[in-house]
Amino acid sequence: MTYEYNCKKCKTTWEEGWPMDKRDTPTEIPCPHCNAEGSVTRLISPTKMSYQGRHGVQKLAGDGWNDVLKKIKTNAGPKSTIETR
Ligand SMILES: [Zn+2]
Repeated sequence: MTYEYNCKKCKTTWEEGWPMDKRDTPTEIPCPHCNAEGSVTRLISPTKMSYQGRHGVQKLAGDGWNDVLKKIKTNAGPKSTIETR
């Protein structure tokens, strides 16, 4: 997984690949750009995640599901979440 990090001190934003259980490691070590401690935060990109989630549902259910999905979207709006179970 690739995560985005931001340093409050030098205002640098960068991406790093980490396993999910180690994703907060860069926030616990000094900034790789300016060496400041405790100034790194992990950024959250909810837009990217929901986009991937929608693709996952389509892949899981197959092509025939696309028409049903379209109807659900029309009825419930783009902000609704679709249960896979
Ligand atoms: Zn920094």
